[in-house]
Amino acid sequence: MDEPRVALVTGANKGIGFEIAKLLGTAHGMRVLVGARDAVRGKEAATALGPFATAVTLDVTDAGSVAALASLERLDVMVNNAGVLLERGAPPSGTPVELLRRTFETNVFGVVAVTNAVLPALRRSDAGRVVNVSSGLGSLAFTTEPSHMYAQHPLLSYNASKSALNAVTVSFANELRATAIKVNAADPGYCATDLNDHSGPRTAARGAVAAVRLATLPADGPTGGFFDEDGPVPW
Ligand code: NAP
Repeated sequence: MDEPRVALVTGANKGIGFEIAKLLGTAHGMRVLVGARDAVRGKEAATALGPFATAVTLDVTDAGSVAALASLERLDVMVNNAGVLLERGAPPSGTPVELLRRTFETNVFGVVAVTNAVLPALRRSDAGRVVNVSSGLGSLAFTTEPSHMYAQHPLLSYNASKSALNAVTVSFANELRATAIKVNAADPGYCATDLNDHSGPRTAARGAVAAVRLATLPADGPTGGFFDEDGPVPW
């Protein structure tokens, strides 16, 4: 029998990441490395998920814990889910640059660092998949349409970080187009999680669906795209 495929999900101790880990393990039979920046929260999540889950202490902004990922022998699926929304109501003109820096450290630079650290293992997979958990708020098509709901949420650092993450996704996809690795961005939709004080109308479990679909794409699936559970999302 084939060895189970191995997935790493960052920020998997709660919210959408936890649900992505659950689906990859229960519906797709994967071994899941449950990334969490806090070791205790990671262990608790892995225990709650079940035997397919193993906790990995990983702060995506910490060079040491990211470098340790290079020792992974096998990895088939990398879900860059960890993310922060640090602003609480300040308009773009009132958002300190320092807040943008902190946001980009996790939402953009952390994704690049983690992806590069695991790329050697993904290249050894016959079907490597990278999923970057983005947001509809990173879609310039949505936020430049004044009547769109997302144009009403000018969260400077969060929105800019997710637009940048989309650009990161396309850059990696283009570099890796000739390989077996596919790189796509997922839009979970507006879900009730700690990130937004549980204001979203969707469940975190529903938010996990798009990312899991991209994590399990067949060989003829797309790369370099942006998708929600219903299909392509405009950039
Ligand atoms: P959440 O419940 O707040 O979960 C965020 C996760 O990221 C937590 O596990 C958190 O760890 C982790 N994290 C934050 N900074 C980290 C770091 N430096 N290193 C490692 N882990 C870190 O939020 P969520 O809504 O599930 O968010 C998951 C992803 O979905 C994010 O990328 C978010 O931008 C995206 N998203 C969410 C929505 C929504 O409506 N909720 C919509 C679109 C996109 P701690 O528990 O230690 O804080």
